[in-house]
Amino acid sequence: MGKLLSLIIGEEERPVQAIPLEHAVLCMNCETVFDMAERICPVCCSETFLNIGVALGDEETKSRIRRQAVTA
Ligand SMILES: [Zn+2]
Repeated sequence: MGKLLSLIIGEEERPVQAIPLEHAVLCMNCETVFDMAERICPVCCSETFLNIGVALGDEETKSRIRRQAVTA
């Protein structure tokens, strides 16, 4: 399905980048969204980032993120 779609729209095939909201952080330096498991921004190596799940998630996501933060 994905292959067919890339052929139709003529895009190069590349791995899907999907980050669950509760793992998604926004680099405050270069404004790149990446997976918090990376620990540092893969683009600019900044360690200053904001968990966007706290801002955009529903209550259940927010409470999961808070629990992770407490146990970390
Ligand atoms: Zn960055």
